[in-house]
Amino acid sequence: MKPVVFIGAGPGAADLITVRGAQRLGAAEVVLFDALTDPALRDLAPHARWIDVGKRGFCASTRQVAINALLVRHARSGRAVVRLKGGDPSVFGRLEEELQALAEAGIAAEVVPGVTAAIAAAAATQRPLTRRGSGRSVSLTTAMTRSGDLRATRTADTEVFYMAGRQLGALGRRLRQAGWPADTPVLAVSRAGWPDQLASDHRVGALAEVALLHAGRPTVVTVGVGATPIAGVGNAISGAAQGPCRQVAQLQP
Ligand code: SAH
Repeated sequence: MKPVVFIGAGPGAADLITVRGAQRLGAAEVVLFDALTDPALRDLAPHARWIDVGKRGFCASTRQVAINALLVRHARSGRAVVRLKGGDPSVFGRLEEELQALAEAGIAAEVVPGVTAAIAAAAATQRPLTRRGSGRSVSLTTAMTRSGDLRATRTADTEVFYMAGRQLGALGRRLRQAGWPADTPVLAVSRAGWPDQLASDHRVGALAEVALLHAGRPTVVTVGVGATPIAGVGNAISGAAQGPCRQVAQLQP
């Protein structure tokens, strides 16, 4: 049996995949892919069988079990199997469960990293996540707990929240409770890395607009030092390979 290769596709445009990821994808015979990956990646493996294991067609509780079973079944058939994930497989990618399922079946795995959404958002907006002297730590946090509760923390100089979803508006209240001052800068970036990526500036004390501006789009919310614009750069959000990042709002506290 060949090892199953987990590949981080990056956050958006197909050319954000790594060279190694593209090479491994090119050798695939079966590709199990997620909803957030670029359809243009199919050109890298046109003869492989592409299987959509995104949310559609699975109910939430059976989805992961079904994906694990598919991985094992296709690997056992002797084919070269790729598991293609959005961003990086090790960041909120359910990699733990899938590696475990393969290990239990005695199947080896390889993980090829990708650009995670927090990094893509920082690049798109030219807002470095670390800053010399003031931004010494970065935390990647999911806003949602297993039971679906919204949770916010203050554990680092820069905190990047994934999966805040529809509760983006309520995040501000939770951030205040976690100890962030109301005037702390917040940067919201949705569909980072895609041609229609969108960025907006906010303050912890006024986050209601985030939900409206980025409704229905995958969004990361950067709070603290890493959300602060660089002098002379902050208002000119641009520089993505696929086109400018439209800054939709410069909101004052
Ligand atoms: N493994 C992925 C994260 C998957 S969890 C990664 O490393 O990026 C899904 C969450 O990731 C979304 O709810 C959203 O918060 C974030 N996300 C994924 N793609 C994104 C993108 N292109 N722009 C902004 N946020 C994104």
